[in-house]
Amino acid sequence: MAIGPGARRRISILGSTGSIGVSTLDVVEQLGGREAFDLVAITGNSNVELLARQAKTFGARMAVTADDARYAELKEALAGTGIEAGAGREAIMEAAAAESEWMMAAIVGTAGLAPTLAAARRGADIALANKECLVSAGDLFVHAVREGGGRLIPVDSEHSAIFQSLEDDQHHAIERIVLTASGGPFRTWSREQMADVTVDVAKAHPNWSMGLKISIGSASMFNKALEMIEAKHLFDLRPEQIEVIVHPQSIIHSMVGYRDGSILAQLGVPDMRTAIGYALTYPDRPQLNVERLDFAKLARLDFEAPDEVRFPALRLARSALERGGVQGAVMNAAEEVAFDAFCAGQIGFLAMADIAEEVMEAMIGYPAAGSIDEVFAADAEARRIAAALISERTMAA
Ligand code: NAD
Ligand code: MG
Repeated sequence: MAIGPGARRRISILGSTGSIGVSTLDVVEQLGGREAFDLVAITGNSNVELLARQAKTFGARMAVTADDARYAELKEALAGTGIEAGAGREAIMEAAAAESEWMMAAIVGTAGLAPTLAAARRGADIALANKECLVSAGDLFVHAVREGGGRLIPVDSEHSAIFQSLEDDQHHAIERIVLTASGGPFRTWSREQMADVTVDVAKAHPNWSMGLKISIGSASMFNKALEMIEAKHLFDLRPEQIEVIVHPQSIIHSMVGYRDGSILAQLGVPDMRTAIGYALTYPDRPQLNVERLDFAKLARLDFEAPDEVRFPALRLARSALERGGVQGAVMNAAEEVAFDAFCAGQIGFLAMADIAEEVMEAMIGYPAAGSIDEVFAADAEARRIAAALISERTMAA
């Protein structure tokens, strides 16, 4: 990209200290760093030291930690730099509101919803890693992007692949999309084997290096469940148009099947920087220093049908898609609570899906959300029920 010194692109990164955030700054560096980009705001949570270092390296104007208690630490680390320090939820909202043209939404979980929505409303182009925005509040979020007038560019590798495989003005000719799934570390395991796994075993993903939540979600295939709902909203699909196929090598990142029988796919080595770079310079393709695919070395690509018995999250996503309303928000919130309980050693690996399912069933018929506050109300109710189910289980154990 040829960007002169007077025309630096104004960008911000929510969740800059995470796996996606760090990769985003790597791409920013590859594409010219502070010469090419005016980093309006970056945000993190507990890793204040990294946040401050990033802010100084890239000349950010504002750095915000979500953790109120770390304000003094951040302020001190940025003393004398002229970089504004902030802390807490309100400050995260200010970072999202700060006038960037492009924003990477890479906070993990529902915490990313309110700030990403604010950036969408003010018309920033949104590079969306935080799939939870679409799972919890798909219709409202897509509407906010449309009203704001910015672009919504997927960063999730599968959705980036689909986005790249879509042809202009051919939405009517899409028959289906095929989301590929690596199958995670337990692809060939029985339910009995999965029952007692620890967090350390579950987080070891075979192909991708990612944050903890999404790594565990890959092992349970809950991540793919979220991605099915994400795809529905991003690409305006009917539930029956969304397929999942297990593809252990993670080389085909996903595909679009058209009504003439053609399948278009996007391939590459599993490296999030390709999808991030594409979202940053879209529709231009950036020059990126990532590993190139060597087909001879690869030799083969494998595919397997997904197993909804061993991985019930896929079945739950299908139910959420069919039921509509707030079921996506409910599934996501219940699973976030169950994930925390699994990480804390309170429940087993398989109980995460059981709890999500029970909460979803308890909330069938809960009114659909017409506003973001109603989404948050459903989210809170799902969390309350999930927490009660977990304490029942831990008391019984
Ligand atoms: P991560 O855990 O590595 O990073 C999360 C970021 O969010 C960090 O900067 C953290 O400081 C911040 N954060 C955490 N809790 C917060 C809170 N309460 N308020 C504000 N900020 C908070 O996660 P990640 O793997 O980078 O994933 C980020 C998002 O991108 C997730 O939604 C994930 O599903 C999605 N995603 C990640 C990958 C990947 O390869 N890592 C791929 C596709 C999609
Ligand atoms: Mg993905």
